Amino acid sequence: MKDSYHLNTKLTGLLGHPIKHSYSPLIHNMTFQLKGLDYIFLPFDVLTSSLKTALKGMIGLGIKGFNITIPHKENIIQYMNSVSEEASIIGAVNTVVNDLGKLSGYNTDVNGVYETLLPFKEEITGNEVSVVGAGGAARAVIYTLIRYFKPSTIFLINRTEQRAETLKHYFCDKMKYDSFKTRELFPPDLIDIFRNSKLIINATSVGMFPESDDTITSLNHSFTKEQIVFDLVYNPLQTQLLKIAALEGATILDGLKMLVHQAAKSFELWTGEEMPVEEVYKTLQLYIKG
Ligand code: NAP
Repeated sequence: MKDSYHLNTKLTGLLGHPIKHSYSPLIHNMTFQLKGLDYIFLPFDVLTSSLKTALKGMIGLGIKGFNITIPHKENIIQYMNSVSEEASIIGAVNTVVNDLGKLSGYNTDVNGVYETLLPFKEEITGNEVSVVGAGGAARAVIYTLIRYFKPSTIFLINRTEQRAETLKHYFCDKMKYDSFKTRELFPPDLIDIFRNSKLIINATSVGMFPESDDTITSLNHSFTKEQIVFDLVYNPLQTQLLKIAALEGATILDGLKMLVHQAAKSFELWTGEEMPVEEVYKTLQLYIKG
């Protein structure tokens, strides 16, 4: 473990606005130390109007790679020299590798969703899945489901149903998957929709701190013990949705697993090394619980 940084310390970081609540500096700096790598991860608070200048700065300073977060994930694509297949279909980049001034964009949220759901692949393939949300995270979820898990049907539910409709047409066109149903987020209906789903995914920000009491459904008997409920929200660790699902015996998956696995893929792209995901996950769990 290094106690000081040297002239050849490699730089990585995060570009976004706001960034003060991000766990990425903690995850990456902890892992660099665990692995004894001479790297450091720095947060850069960058407004949309400064994105292009900031990228020139990243290249000029020889920053090895960086994460991209809200609001730049879509906008940054125009500045990439190359974009991976998944980032191109999803339409968002969350990880950039700087190879001597050539910028390559990736979407490692796909890895986060994939690794979280992998132990349940057999249950998901050929069955119906409900996805609540139609924002950037939902796009990564839908891409991963279609590409790797092949559910029989994806039920897209969103507060603004038109956005769900737009996503349906987008993925029909881009991935030739046409087994979608859509519905507006309307609580009394959700039980019926969820009843036929093996997997229910919350890809909205509902339930996120400080609105931790909110949930996409608070009705009793929303879930059964045969179902899997995955909440992308990771703060709090056990959301109100996951508490309800656990009480009803469903298998629950928290957003922290996805967060660590997406970080692990970024880490690998920058360093060529594996992240000890279990160790990092456990440390973060303790940190979040305080
Ligand atoms: P986004 O693009 O802003 O989309 C937000 C989604 O949440 C939209 O579908 C929006 O519905 C819905 N929503 C927001 N407030 C709502 C409310 N009060 N009631 C009902 N629906 C509401 O955000 P995003 O990037 O997709 O992120 C969504 C969540 O995923 C965030 O909590 C984020 O932290 C989490 N996330 C987690 C990970 C991870 O690694 N675990 C990775 C990425 C994202 P409308 O379309 O109607 O506005």
